[in-house]
Amino acid sequence: MSVIEVPVTIVGGSLVGLSASALLARHGVRALVLERHSGTAIHPRAAHATQRTMEIFRSLDLETAIRERSAEQFIQDGGVVEVETLIGGATRQFIADLNAGIRDVSPCERVFLSQSSLEPLLMERARELGAEVRFSTEVTSIEEDSTGVTALLRDRESGAVSRVRSQYLIAADGAHSGVRRQVGIGMQGRSPFSRSVTIYFRADLRSLLCDRKWAVVYVNNPRLRGFFRFEKPFDSAFLAVNTEGDAAHPNTDIATDITPERALRFVAHALGSEAIPVTIESIMQWEAAAQSAERLQTRRVFIAGDAAHTMPPTGGFGGNTGVQDVHNLAWKLAQVLRGEAPAALLSTYEAERRPVAALSAEQAYTRYVLRTDPSLGPERCAPLVNDLNIELGYVYRSDGIVSEEPDDGATHSSPRESRARPGTRAPHVWLERRGCRLSSLDLYGSRFVLLAGPRADEWCRYARDASSEERIALDIARPGAEGLEDPAGNLSELHMIEPNGCVLVRPDGFVAWRARNAQTASAAAMRSVLIRAHGIAR
Ligand SMILES: Cc1cc2nc3c(=O)[nH]c(=O)nc-3n(C[C@H](O)[C@H](O)[C@H](O)COP(=O)(O)OP(=O)(O)OC[C@H]3O[C@@H](n4cnc5c(N)ncnc54)[C@H](O)[C@@H]3O)c2cc1C
Repeated sequence: MSVIEVPVTIVGGSLVGLSASALLARHGVRALVLERHSGTAIHPRAAHATQRTMEIFRSLDLETAIRERSAEQFIQDGGVVEVETLIGGATRQFIADLNAGIRDVSPCERVFLSQSSLEPLLMERARELGAEVRFSTEVTSIEEDSTGVTALLRDRESGAVSRVRSQYLIAADGAHSGVRRQVGIGMQGRSPFSRSVTIYFRADLRSLLCDRKWAVVYVNNPRLRGFFRFEKPFDSAFLAVNTEGDAAHPNTDIATDITPERALRFVAHALGSEAIPVTIESIMQWEAAAQSAERLQTRRVFIAGDAAHTMPPTGGFGGNTGVQDVHNLAWKLAQVLRGEAPAALLSTYEAERRPVAALSAEQAYTRYVLRTDPSLGPERCAPLVNDLNIELGYVYRSDGIVSEEPDDGATHSSPRESRARPGTRAPHVWLERRGCRLSSLDLYGSRFVLLAGPRADEWCRYARDASSEERIALDIARPGAEGLEDPAGNLSELHMIEPNGCVLVRPDGFVAWRARNAQTASAAAMRSVLIRAHGIAR
């Protein structure tokens, strides 16, 4: 039997697996993606990419391509509303304009682009950067030992069986993850509360939608609860149906008896007319649950994406949370594989991402109860958290983060208020380098960065010394040095440092440590935080 050797194997080549391969490849790590389907996603499913996800795709040089494709496919800045029927018009508005009031916090905007259009872009970029993606290849089992992981593969076209040996494996194999089951990791949270369907259909909806700026439309009427998503040129769409009948005691099992005829009736009830010709193209079945994995790591296997957390689509958090998982993991794997950090750094993945998975799943559930199925009891849900906090304001705590005291323990905060507090995403500030505008976020991605105030000479000197003594790669970015300018002069204020303070930012753009001024500046202090952020025990 042939054996392939590669540093990282990724099981599952959909949104999260492909993102992982591109991010690893950008860090110079060769990854092999194994996907049992014969190509990328054929169904649109996820479409809402948050600002954070777009920041991650920006770091892969994909932002422009995604925006261009999105402009072809969706009304830009589309809103999210509720109707009784599409013909009847809006009864509630959740989001009037996708990007209104949030443009100050990021260089990127929220975008709608369906998974079926996004995945080919991700795959092409991953391959350009050096990743390998194999379709029609199923992983039938995995075995982990002290030096690596062996996966058994079956070519679904030829039936040929082979093995792949790698140092680490990422399970991005979806909600029914076989890898997660095999390594004995269970799920916790809220068990399935709906057996839902997504009905893909064709119908000429131009006259109903052409002057409405709607992208996602929740449907709430006595017959059914669910949501539509519309793409240009409004001759096709999907309707997800979660519950039907009496809203106080709904039928939550839509999938069991679904037929094209029932699907047609659901679409007619949601449109508010049987006179609009509709052709059903396909019907997908799925379970709505809000759960996260009990662990995200065995020694050499990492669980990510829907394999690590499932949540209803309400809010559009599922795929975004998965992309953030692998963004958190990729630079850590790269550092460990290059021998720049010990394996202990990898344990910060679970410490940092599990609370975020639980937060996102609970918040998606709260939105589901409030928007779709109040019979589940709003009083039994977590209080609603602002979308921006979930999308950009999640907080990490782990051995790799030097948290500041007092620590309120909150799992999220407003990205406008976090101001470079350790464990939060470093804020976005527009800067200039030799006349070109860049976001402070563009400084991060490859190596650790010491972002220093304009008079932080002392910290910069200690950082240079520590980085060469400890052989830790570190960039130093300081307004006034090497062509970098802070034209608005607000970098220090937005990072809550004095001009002689500094912030240590990780390759994923999260703050590992901050010194507000030079009071504690010393070689030992600098060396200690660099070592700690790299998971090195002394
Ligand atoms: C109707 C709907 C709308 C949604 N809208 C949004 C949205 O707007 N925004 C958002 O963020 N999320 C949304 N989601 C959720 C989003 O689709 C998922 O979170 C996302 O697809 C998860 O990606 P993933 O790569 O982790 O898993 P999946 O997309 O499930 O991919 C897993 C892949 O692994 C492969 N695989 C499984 N087992 C094996 C094996 N043994 N060997 C090889 N390959 C294997 C599968 O074939 C599959 O391709 C929506 C979901 C639905 C149902």
